[in-house]
Amino acid sequence: MSETLVVVGNGMAAARLVDELTKSARGRYAGAVRGDEARRAYNRVLLSSVLAGETASHDIELKPAAWWRDHGVTLKFGCVATEIDVGRRELKIANEESIAFSRLVLATGSTPLRLNVPGADLAGVHTFRDSRDVDLLLTLAVRKKRVVVVGGGLLGLEAAYGLAKAGAPVTLVHLMDRLMERQLDAPAAELLKSLVERKGIEILLNANTARLHGETRVEGVELTDGRRIDAAAVIFAAGIRPNVTLAKDAGIPVNRGIIVDDYLQTGAPDIFALGECAEHRGICYGLVEPAYEQARILARHLAGGAASYGGSVVATNLKVSGVSVFSAGDFMGADGTETIVLNDARHGTYKKLVISDGRLTGAVLVGDVGDALWYLELIRSRQPIARIRNRMMFGRSLTLPSEAA
Ligand SMILES: Cc1cc2nc3c(=O)[nH]c(=O)nc-3n(C[C@H](O)[C@H](O)[C@H](O)COP(=O)(O)OP(=O)(O)OC[C@H]3O[C@@H](n4cnc5c(N)ncnc54)[C@H](O)[C@@H]3O)c2cc1C
Repeated sequence: MSETLVVVGNGMAAARLVDELTKSARGRYAGAVRGDEARRAYNRVLLSSVLAGETASHDIELKPAAWWRDHGVTLKFGCVATEIDVGRRELKIANEESIAFSRLVLATGSTPLRLNVPGADLAGVHTFRDSRDVDLLLTLAVRKKRVVVVGGGLLGLEAAYGLAKAGAPVTLVHLMDRLMERQLDAPAAELLKSLVERKGIEILLNANTARLHGETRVEGVELTDGRRIDAAAVIFAAGIRPNVTLAKDAGIPVNRGIIVDDYLQTGAPDIFALGECAEHRGICYGLVEPAYEQARILARHLAGGAASYGGSVVATNLKVSGVSVFSAGDFMGADGTETIVLNDARHGTYKKLVISDGRLTGAVLVGDVGDALWYLELIRSRQPIARIRNRMMFGRSLTLPSEAA
């Protein structure tokens, strides 16, 4: 008889794990997935495109109902897992019976943070995480009143771009002195800022939100330097917090995320975690690639194969507010590293390669990201680059013409 594998969360990591399991452990598990959102798993990354009107919401679904059915997985959405009984191996679902499991996987993702400032709970203050948020942001945009987005990371920029494209005047306020400071160095961030501003989005840097004004509805944002921006709505895009409560309440060790070892196993037997809710060697990843890598490894492990996870080399390879951006590895260039830079602001292109001990260790690209995956492969493989060093800035086809031909 097959064992019962229960997955909590019906997001990107969960869907990929089940997909991998159908290949590597076919027939071994009877799968049950429970997710609290009101729809089947979808590509969350594409919510930005839905907001920008470039993709229809129904087109971002990852697997149709028939796929789950045909693979013998009972998927129920719109239901919240409320408690894990580790000893009895049972998962409790709100308003439903408990489900017995032989193995349990937590794939509960993250929750957006709301800044702890006066006015943060006023009506008209929102976040950007799921399909419902997008529906709400689209209704805001059609009112054509100013929206302030707090946070100049990926999500803030995506929210600002989508809202602006949908017709709202947008001001983006960011605490730091440059956009996407965790992915970009100063010249790349400066170029991104000018390209985003060309799309009509106002950007304020070194802008620390002090409070939100309004009686019951938000009317404006006040910064600590006294500046005030009128706003009919405010979107917080200032970070995420892994969803750990379910694990923590069950006595499973958590830190910022649910602590997992190299087999994605939590501190409880036969209970695993992956994706944004998991913390591996002190790192909670906030991107989809590491979640997919973890799904691959965990599926192999659950299938009885030998596989362990050593962490991910994180790369950012995205279109931010319509601008292509890539960064990976030590993109800042630590002491003792060499850098090669090409900066063509007029054509909206910036490239920086970081070299250490004769190997490529980091890269930043803005505008032209055609060679991003090649650079990423060089960083990941740690292969010596002395032979190609002088040409590699100009891309793969000019560096390795015989391979490109
Ligand atoms: C707008 C947007 C744009 C993004 N763009 C990019 C990008 O360009 N590149 C990139 O790499 N990453 C991007 N990300 C991040 C990426 O979407 C996440 O890293 C990825 O979705 C993580 O997958 P996950 O399964 O861990 O979490 P999620 O996809 O969030 O899935 C977790 C699911 O579990 C559910 N859940 C939580 N608790 C419970 C419970 N108790 N019971 C039942 N269900 C529960 C949640 O509601 C959610 O549906 C973006 C995110 C957003 C919001």
